[in-house]
Amino acid sequence: MTTVSVTYEEALTRYEPVFGLETHVELGTRTKMFCGCLTTFGGEPNSQVCPVCLGLPGSLPVMNRIAIEYTIKIGLALNCSIASWCRFARKNYFYPDMPKNFQISQYDEPLCLDGYLDVSVNGQTVRVGIERVHLEEDTGKSLHIGGATGRIQGAEYSLVDYNRAGIPLVEIVTKPVPGTGSLAPEVARAYVTELRDVLRSLGVSDVRMEEGSLRCDVNTSLSPLGSGAWGTRTETKNVNSLRSVERAVHSEIERQAAVLDEGGRVIQETRHFHEESGETTSGRSKEEAQDYRYFPEPDLVPVAPDAAWVDAIRTSLPELPSARRARLIAAWSLSDLEFESMRNGGALDVVEATVVAGASPRDAQKWWMGELARRANDSGVEVSALPITPADVARVSALVSAGTLNDRLAREVLDGVLAGEGTPDQVVEKRGLAVVSDDSALLAAIDEAITANPEVAEKVRSGKVAASGVIVGAVVRATRGQADAARVRELVLERLS
Ligand SMILES: [Zn+2]
Repeated sequence: MTTVSVTYEEALTRYEPVFGLETHVELGTRTKMFCGCLTTFGGEPNSQVCPVCLGLPGSLPVMNRIAIEYTIKIGLALNCSIASWCRFARKNYFYPDMPKNFQISQYDEPLCLDGYLDVSVNGQTVRVGIERVHLEEDTGKSLHIGGATGRIQGAEYSLVDYNRAGIPLVEIVTKPVPGTGSLAPEVARAYVTELRDVLRSLGVSDVRMEEGSLRCDVNTSLSPLGSGAWGTRTETKNVNSLRSVERAVHSEIERQAAVLDEGGRVIQETRHFHEESGETTSGRSKEEAQDYRYFPEPDLVPVAPDAAWVDAIRTSLPELPSARRARLIAAWSLSDLEFESMRNGGALDVVEATVVAGASPRDAQKWWMGELARRANDSGVEVSALPITPADVARVSALVSAGTLNDRLAREVLDGVLAGEGTPDQVVEKRGLAVVSDDSALLAAIDEAITANPEVAEKVRSGKVAASGVIVGAVVRATRGQADAARVRELVLERLS
């Protein structure tokens, strides 16, 4: 244990952080990697198993073509080159959640190699190199019962569920990312965010971090500033939220700086991230590749995707998040910050659909990021989950532009739609919400307000125009907010001139 403590800012005055990420993604194929078992999440334990994924003697794996196609898609989206020939390998290790005592993975012949993903942090673009993308099978899940922490230490017994065993799992490994300084934690988070969005746009995974279909291991090392040498890295395992990715890098920078300041050395090991404290604790010392005794999997033929197939997959790629970002920023004249807040607020899709439905980009943003974001926040749901469609919002926006509604009435219409009272037009009709634009109706209310406030009226007549606010306010109240205040003011001044 270290006795000194070093703040984050202090650490960065002496050390250069380098990080890297290994991300595991469960593919959303209907069936498992090497058998026909279903991959549905949340089934009864051990209800989605067969001799192949239980590793029973004599069973033989058969490759899932869709999983290969999805992996190639991911590789192409990450600007990788696709191997024209590669093999699976056996990675030998014994864990109860791996019933074959080996995992079918890829070793020195990954399907996709050498790409990159550009991420944006505070308007600055950082290119994160991709070392490799390979395909393997997921393990089962151990459940330790009776301990306080859910870990094996202190548990009375353990149960194992093999439903997850054999689900196709893609591992995406970055190259080390140097040179980001104090932004390292944010860049790490931005990378995982961007990667998640890419995977989602490809439709290859549901990328739910909370359900474990996207899991990250975060490597961090420090080297003395300007030394040019790289420090020893630690690997923080299974960091399961975007926020935790950022915190894990942050806390490892502080911890390693304290170790180095004391003259100690950082040990190459895996570490566990603790959600509550935001700190990491030591796990096991890191295995080397040779410990796994990899060898080519003899039960599977090599994978040799032909160029025409890879080209067809390339042509079928959807618009990727970076391209969409550039397109929307240009088309809607957005700042980076406006785009980020829309993306982080989960509002991009609904705002775009509202624009397609006829609203101006400014109006679509205004309603979704303002009033509706507040409603979503109040009820603890994503803005896109609110019971209102982009077409409804576009209609409300059109009614405002046409002068039928003012902003206050528009908010009432949104209320009605959210409460299930029908379309915006139905709500306007049922609640009688249209702006009173008929001057004669307004003049009647104005005359009443003038009679009720004779002293104020006198002041306005004698030239104190500012006093007219009292009368305008009375008229707006009398018409239950349905009068256009600017028009009322004009009419009041005319009346009292
Ligand atoms: Zn199976």
